[in-house]
Amino acid sequence: MGPPVTIIGAGMAGLTLGLALARSGIEPIVLEQAPVLGEVGAGLTISPNASRVFEHLGLGDGLEAIGYTPERQHVRHYKTGRILAETVRGQSPKAQYGAGYFHVHRADLHVLLAQALEAACPGAIRTGHRLTGARHVDRGVELAFADRPTRVADAVVGADGVRSVLRDALFETLPARFTGHVAWRGLVPAERLDPDVAAAPPGIHIGPGQLFLRYPLRGGSLINYAAFARQDGWLDEGWSARAALSDPLAVFGDWDRLASGVIAATPPDGVFKWALFGRAPLSSWVSGRATLVGDAAHAMLPFMGQGAASSIEDAMVLARCIAATPSADEAFALYEATRRSRADFIQTTSRAVGERLEGADPDSYNPATHRNEDSLGLFAYDAVRTPLGVPWDIPAEAA
Ligand code: FAD
Repeated sequence: MGPPVTIIGAGMAGLTLGLALARSGIEPIVLEQAPVLGEVGAGLTISPNASRVFEHLGLGDGLEAIGYTPERQHVRHYKTGRILAETVRGQSPKAQYGAGYFHVHRADLHVLLAQALEAACPGAIRTGHRLTGARHVDRGVELAFADRPTRVADAVVGADGVRSVLRDALFETLPARFTGHVAWRGLVPAERLDPDVAAAPPGIHIGPGQLFLRYPLRGGSLINYAAFARQDGWLDEGWSARAALSDPLAVFGDWDRLASGVIAATPPDGVFKWALFGRAPLSSWVSGRATLVGDAAHAMLPFMGQGAASSIEDAMVLARCIAATPSADEAFALYEATRRSRADFIQTTSRAVGERLEGADPDSYNPATHRNEDSLGLFAYDAVRTPLGVPWDIPAEAA
């Protein structure tokens, strides 16, 4: 066993990386800013390219237990609710890709990952460590924390999200910037909805300049939604704020009741407004003995539901690279060579998909010409077995 690998951030990327390293016999140290571990209450789609990684890490049954597999998904007209396209899911992703498609509560997945990591490597996750700066030193990277002594890591991985401090400290980069997209998000107990609204298949409603996404969680007892719109600027200090129910209703109140009815049923204080921030691609993912995973490396707009999935893919591939090479320098270079083309492609395409869906005239929406994560073949990616050092081929369908 070599020296431990230090990971900044215990989100999806950091915890998956920690677990994948621990499974390979490499010690991870995961330093998280939050005083106690926890995740925001919201939903997440785990597509087969991500669930395949969890199965490999021994979390397949756990994911089945917390996940909701939709039978079908619909694209609907924002006003009339007319079905414009249907995708059959159910067991077909398993048959086609050998791995399932799930909607999960983020908090449930976070607990699953954190417990598995703690069981594999007790004490690996250390809360109350807010990174404030970093610099290269002879022995590796010196890390500075709020209210804690500095420490030197032999090798460090930034999994600290879109506002990554490690990225700002060690990489040539511009600050995270507001993309002009906002999302109101909420979780609605199904019993607050009319039964036909609660039971309707999940999916999206598309309207000019706006998009509404909904899907069930926890066996259908909760309906998760995100209502996306454009906004000229973001003045709030943070990037997520509690919002009044009247805000999303002012935009979506006259939409089909499968959308407006869900928003209107949100419990008091249960609506949050998120600003979607983005980053320009990096010229290099490696800086000395530091690299980045997940949103810290390639924050992307959520319109293909691939942000967390890409973070999970990164984590699996990076752990394999570290296990396969004698030094962090070699491992990090191998990781970048393997991952970069895919991450760049998904980052760029997520933006284009959002522009198309939000900009669409729903009456002329044509599913045959609309490329998405499924039709682009993104679900077939196998982070557990993809050859290391070989860039991912951009799908021909993307041309
Ligand atoms: P994060 O989850 O942001 O985790 C970063 C961690 O680092 C946190 O625990 C944080 O506390 C910690 N941290 C931050 N700064 C510091 C510091 N200075 N010191 C120490 N610790 C620090 N993705 C999907 O795959 N499917 C979806 O359906 C989906 N839907 C989405 C919907 C919306 C509206 C949005 C905004 C995003 C969505 N995503 C989705 C994207 C997904 O949420 C992110 O891509 C994913 O969470 C990135 O994981 P991460 O671990 O890189 O970063």
